[in-house]
Amino acid sequence: MGKIYKTLIFDGEASLSVLETTDVVNTAIKYHKLTPVCAAALGRTLTATAFMSTGLKNEGDRLSVTIKGNGAGGTIITSCDSKLNVRGRIDNPFADAPLKQNGKLDVAAIVGNEGYMTVVKSMGLKEPYVGRCDLVSGEIAEDFAAYYAYSEQQPTAIALGVLIGKDGKCVGAGGVVIQPLPGCSETNISKIENEISRFANVSGLISEIGGKGICEKYFGEYSFEEYHTEYKCNCSKKYIDGVLLTLGKEELLDTIKSVGKVEVNCEFCDKKYEYAEEDVLKLFEL
Ligand SMILES: [Zn+2]
Repeated sequence: MGKIYKTLIFDGEASLSVLETTDVVNTAIKYHKLTPVCAAALGRTLTATAFMSTGLKNEGDRLSVTIKGNGAGGTIITSCDSKLNVRGRIDNPFADAPLKQNGKLDVAAIVGNEGYMTVVKSMGLKEPYVGRCDLVSGEIAEDFAAYYAYSEQQPTAIALGVLIGKDGKCVGAGGVVIQPLPGCSETNISKIENEISRFANVSGLISEIGGKGICEKYFGEYSFEEYHTEYKCNCSKKYIDGVLLTLGKEELLDTIKSVGKVEVNCEFCDKKYEYAEEDVLKLFEL
């Protein structure tokens, strides 16, 4: 279970979120068999998405993030709901890249530094909100900061990190996000960048002391609210039914004739949906 800790800092003029998403990233690794560098790319995106989910206030609200860059991993898609459930996928989970000179995973090689990020928020009856901005570095944190600045006019300082162990499992993932609230003083705004620079190695800190440890060690004077976030897919038979209906009856029956069944795998989780001839016929009766 991932955790999100939130509080107000700097005389109540800025919001702080500390995220611990190690379990979320490990579930993604389990479903998608990610290489370490893909786990870092998707894991950072899932962590930022988990942060964004805390801004969804009403049941049924959802948002999705698409990062379409020119890197080896292809497109990354994540989504979340107001219950802080997140899920995600990457086109090429087996893509790899040599380590950077400083020994770190080269996330930008997987994501690419040219392309764009799109955020779609579906909230209630209104038309979905769509925000889009160009990628800055492909390192994810800077790209999300740029998205907030350009699309939402919300200054945002953000540190994200994913640390992968020798066995390919995630040993520490998370992030720190600080956003000034409207009316934040110049003095406090200038403190934010300095504050976030203490979390350049946030994944290492998470692996050592956890998200709660970061709150206590660096922000001990504040009291935090704690939330849970989880990698959880919301796919359903009803959704897959809808996808099959767009394919057409004849094509599905042809598939069943040649391989005995129609099998659909959810692209976000391991779930398999199987349809025999009678299921297909029933589907098109409605
Ligand atoms: Zn699924």
